Amino acid sequence: MTVARRIDGKTKAENLAESVTRETAILQKDHGITPGLAVVIIGEDPASHIYVRNKKRIAESCGFHSVQHTLADNVPQNEILQLIKELNTDNAIHGILVQLPLPPHLDELIIMQAIEPSKDVDGFHFINIGKLAAGNTSNAFIPCTPAGCMMMIEDELGSDLSGKNAVVIGRSNIVGKPMSSLLLQANATVTITHSRTKNLPEIVSTADIIVAAVGRPNIVKANWVKPGAIVIDVGINRVGKVIDGEIKMGLTGDVDFDDVCSVADAITPVPGGVGPMTIAVLISNTLRAARLSAGLED
Ligand code: NDP
Repeated sequence: MTVARRIDGKTKAENLAESVTRETAILQKDHGITPGLAVVIIGEDPASHIYVRNKKRIAESCGFHSVQHTLADNVPQNEILQLIKELNTDNAIHGILVQLPLPPHLDELIIMQAIEPSKDVDGFHFINIGKLAAGNTSNAFIPCTPAGCMMMIEDELGSDLSGKNAVVIGRSNIVGKPMSSLLLQANATVTITHSRTKNLPEIVSTADIIVAAVGRPNIVKANWVKPGAIVIDVGINRVGKVIDGEIKMGLTGDVDFDDVCSVADAITPVPGGVGPMTIAVLISNTLRAARLSAGLED
């Protein structure tokens, strides 16, 4: 029985963060610019607070100026829009991130579109989405999760995916759709699937590259997977797991890792796969925003 290679997102993310740290030191020394990242978090969602803490820790370890704005669950929308307006014109801030999900009284669309596109390091502004969809990524910010997935796919298969079939499971604006655009731009033949797709296992079994971004624990099984496929598991699901003989809450992906390991060529684990890469790309996007703002890139 073959056993798939484990794609080590943690090490890849550490390598990317190291190169960002080196580039940051050069930017400071040669141009007196320190990349600045502002993170806005609203409400008490424990998972969101963990993500924000990690983003801040890694930004600081790369030598960034890092600011966190923690707002109450019931903060009025106009206060958030006012804060974003101030951050948009703050020269010390090059990247602005509003942590999702937002409390239900807030309009995600309005809030995301209020961020200046040149500081939209999450790549959720329509200008950045449009550039990606049009295949013009030279000065666009690509959403961090799909960009991180793409780096891992390129490490496995190279940057030209001509002749490869890719199936993306999930069509969200933050993962599934931008992931599909990136794969298409790399010349893969792309199928996007979702909750209304019929014969999902059959479609997935045609894929040389599978990206699962569903939010359903262990939905992708070995018999869905073509032997030798590359499997990227974006899902983060909190489930009860037996750890040291006790049932504890742990993380699991959308892919049944142990099962799929017997057929895939390579697979990302959860945790330790896509998650760390997402944060590393955020940091890399922020460095790029700082360089673009100083006219050092175009
Ligand atoms: P969304 O809930 O926005 O989208 C989920 C997608 O999966 C939808 O398009 C939905 O279809 C589709 N779907 C749901 N059920 C099925 C099914 N049974 N069969 C096929 N498709 C289905 O989630 P996100 O894209 O935001 O996130 C997906 C997962 O990735 C989550 O677990 C999330 O936590 C994780 N995530 C991880 C990140 C990381 O850094 N590792 C970053 C972002 C997300 P439809 O559109 O028809 O409803």
